[in-house]
Amino acid sequence: MYSRSDELFEKSKRLMPGGVNSPVRAYQAVHRSPVFIDHAKGSKIYDVDGNEYIDYVCSWGPEILGHADGRVIHAVQEACSKGLTFGAPTEKEYILAELVQELMPSMEMMRLVNSGTEAVMSAIRAARGFTGRNKIVKFRGCYHGHSDGLLVKAGSGAMTQSVPDSLGVPADFTRNTLVAEYNDTDSVEKLFEQDGNDIAAIIVEPVAANMGVVLPRAHFLQDLREIADRYHALLIFDEVITGFRVALGGAQAYYHVRPDLTTLGKIVGGGMPMAAYGGRRDVMQMIAPLGGVYQAGTLSGNPVATAAGIATLQILREQKGLYERLDRITGRLAAAVQESLGSHVCVNRIGSLMCVFFNDGPVTDYVSARRSDTEQFADYFNYMLDHGIYLAPSQFESMFVSYAHTDEDVEKTCRIIRKYPRG
Ligand SMILES: *Cc1c(COP(=O)(O)O)cnc(C)c1O
Repeated sequence: MYSRSDELFEKSKRLMPGGVNSPVRAYQAVHRSPVFIDHAKGSKIYDVDGNEYIDYVCSWGPEILGHADGRVIHAVQEACSKGLTFGAPTEKEYILAELVQELMPSMEMMRLVNSGTEAVMSAIRAARGFTGRNKIVKFRGCYHGHSDGLLVKAGSGAMTQSVPDSLGVPADFTRNTLVAEYNDTDSVEKLFEQDGNDIAAIIVEPVAANMGVVLPRAHFLQDLREIADRYHALLIFDEVITGFRVALGGAQAYYHVRPDLTTLGKIVGGGMPMAAYGGRRDVMQMIAPLGGVYQAGTLSGNPVATAAGIATLQILREQKGLYERLDRITGRLAAAVQESLGSHVCVNRIGSLMCVFFNDGPVTDYVSARRSDTEQFADYFNYMLDHGIYLAPSQFESMFVSYAHTDEDVEKTCRIIRKYPRG
């Protein structure tokens, strides 16, 4: 059933660490070898052995319209025919930036970059440059990419493999990273009481989606806004997952909290490698060549990537009822999962972003997320994969639903879950 995947995995292991180009793809946490993908269309993904799956990974978020949407593919093909990269400004960069600003008005000025990691790294540099301060506050279980200073208590990949920190990161590089508890305002207050005058920024996933999905409790984000203001620190929302996902305007629109800086990735590139950071004009004016904070990129604002991003954001903006439908379909799925698996699981959801924790719940922070039964999850994952349902291979990753998912897809998924023997 998986013979071609197994063969490719054996070969790939010789050339790439763990046979993969990003660690969670290796399926270590679910005790099997990964399936290799051949193609995908709409809500379905197909492996190299010809198996079809309903895809709830959606490339870890970007494919909110479903795979290979004709309009996005057409935009990419048209862009390709004009050349793949120029290393010079193009109109598409402006069009995309204008779209982002329209949908997310806090992005007064921005830079396009190539990955979420790069966006976060650059936003933090901007915050430090602007405030003249060194320290940042992050939250346990939040992931902000793999740059040195942020690989501290970093969630998902690192969490799955029980390696909370990374080798190769000098202690000196993380000395300025302070760690608070998600949903715990007091833990942030304490850090500010000690170091408030040297904290450049608080960085947070406004909905945590890298320790499973953990929603902010009422006022948590407002509290962060208030603390940052009181100490003249910046508030950075890492909306690499939540941007254009939990609402068209991201979590900042959903929760009505305006960050100073925002990082975007995943959906903003429409499936191509692209990301962005931006926010307050006075902060972004610190970036070279206007100011003294250096940040650059050979392929930044790439014409093919911007074409995919523009097409995706335009559809998200123009398709009436898109977010309502995502919410309705995912709500049905969440309710069915909770009903089938009962008190064994805690389902957290916002819009089309959800997580099934094998945990009595409630899951409100890193510690409660950690209490999940990861072996039970692995068993469930394997059952689902063998029955044609493609989930992220870790208890601490999210499920993503796309606009291409149909009621029939959800109905089929629910039928399979109902028959899960350990349910
Ligand atoms: C995925 C992710 C990143 C990193 O983005 P890459 O494109 O993988 O570098 C950063 N922050 C959050 C919240 C993410 O989910």
